[in-house]
Amino acid sequence: MSSTRPPLGGCPHCGTEIPDYRLLIEYETADGPSVFAECPSCEDVVTPA
Ligand SMILES: [Zn+2]
Repeated sequence: MSSTRPPLGGCPHCGTEIPDYRLLIEYETADGPSVFAECPSCEDVVTPA
């Protein structure tokens, strides 16, 4: 599987860049859309920053 989409952002815990295929769910906030994704390094579910 290859993807041309940019990474989702960095893990707020360990700083690892989270690739888009780690996306779990997208949701809406008062500030706009946000996502939950699984960090490939610490394997935690985070909001990429
Ligand atoms: Zn992490």
